[in-house]
Parts: sequence; structure tokens; C-alpha cells
Amino acid sequence: MTDAERQAALDGIGAEVAACRRCRLHEGRTLSVPGEGTAATEVVFVGEGPGFNEDKQGRPFVGQAGSLLDELLACVGWSRAEVFITNVVKCRPPGNRDPEPDEIASCAPYLTRQLEALDPALVVTLGRFSMGRFSPGSRIGQVHGTFRAADAASGAPRALTFAMYHPAAALHQGSLKQTLFADMQGVPAALTEARALRAAAPEPSATETAATETAAAPESVPESEPESVPESVPESAPEVAAESDPTAQLGLF
Ligand code: URA
Repeated sequence: MTDAERQAALDGIGAEVAACRRCRLHEGRTLSVPGEGTAATEVVFVGEGPGFNEDKQGRPFVGQAGSLLDELLACVGWSRAEVFITNVVKCRPPGNRDPEPDEIASCAPYLTRQLEALDPALVVTLGRFSMGRFSPGSRIGQVHGTFRAADAASGAPRALTFAMYHPAAALHQGSLKQTLFADMQGVPAALTEARALRAAAPEPSATETAATETAAAPESVPESEPESVPESVPESAPEVAAESDPTAQLGLF
């Protein structure tokens, strides 16, 4: 997919989100918040859902939690312009309450399709609702600051997912701010690892896929034989503590 095609797909999803009535959250919204950033990115940040300011502006992370996210990006030399930022639910839960399971389920196809369009190398989850989408069953207190292969059903089957606390949590519990910054230092290293895994198992090009589909199967290979996985690429990467190297200023491009 070209970057223009990715952007067109994201625009289409954004238009659907703007008109969405799949769950009760549409009733109280001022604006839906599909997400924003560059379609050319390798890194997607996924929060929980819009708050008061996001609902008014139709943009993700523009309140206090957003200022902290900007600081977190800056501490590894990144900016919003280089990543894509979105949420698990695209409309504000009333009073900023937690999203309900049925609301998350109703909204899930939008995030899945955004990820399919972006095909990121790394998904950084902000908070437990986002983490639950990519690493079902994990506990944020145990896995924050680590990465693992994203759940294939997430829409990002070739991505690693890096778990972080939600920036808003640090606004309520000051001690988490230091943890967030420490964890963020591991994000560039996780991206490096994600790139290496993708290089070892490149996505088949469109022409290769077409050739494979039309090629006759050799007689000695039963058609039902499962696809082999290269030995060097674990099917499901274990949780790995990211190395914290503040000197590793990695450009995204
Ligand atoms: N919190 C979120 O999870 N997302 C936003 O967009 C803003 C605050």
C-alpha cells in the first residue's frame, strides 16, 4: 500500500466514525475522535478514549494527558508529526468513565481497520484498556515497559506491542510520571527490534502473492501442509524488558 492509499483508508474510517451510531457513546459526543498523525509512520500510540477537551476539538490527547504525551515523545526525540495517535473508543465516555465492554467491542473494528491500513511495526499501548486489546490477559503492573508480539486479531499481526501506563494515571499518581519516562526510554529499542523481526519475515509483495496463488502446488507437497515459519522468527515473541539507553536517539525515518 502506498502512503496515499493508507491516508485514503484512514480518511474513510474517519468519515465512518464521524457518523457512527453503533453504541450509546454517540449520544453524548460533541465530536468523535478518530485519531491523527502521519500515515507514513511505523509507530501507533493507542489510548483509552477521548476526554473533555478531545470531545470538543475532535483530536486525540489535547488536554493535560496530551501535554504529558508530548513530553514523553520529546524525551526520545520524537514528535506527534512522526507517529499516529488514536484510542480504543472514538467517542467520549460520559464524565470520563471507563469504556464499557460492549462500547469497546462496538468500536473495535475501527481500530482494527486503522491498524490494517497503517501496518505499524510498533504499537504503544497507553493504559490497561489499550493493553487488553493487544495483550489479552496481561497485567499492566507486570508488563509496563516491556514488549511482545501483538495479538494477531488486533489488526497489526506484524507488530510488536509496548505497554505503558496511561499518561492520565501519572496526573493522579505523581510517582507514575517517573515510571512513564523510564518506560518511554525503551520504546526506540522496541522499534529497532520490531524492524529486525519484520526484516527477517518480510511481507510478501503483491506480485509474489499473486504468483504463489496461481502457481501449481508441487506434487510432493500436500496442499494442506501448514505454512512453515522461519526458525529465526518466534511465532509469539516473549515479553522482553526493553533496554533503557537514553543515548540511543533513533530517528523514525
Ligand atoms: N485520554 C485518552 O485515552 N485519549 C485521549 O485522546 C485523551 C485522553
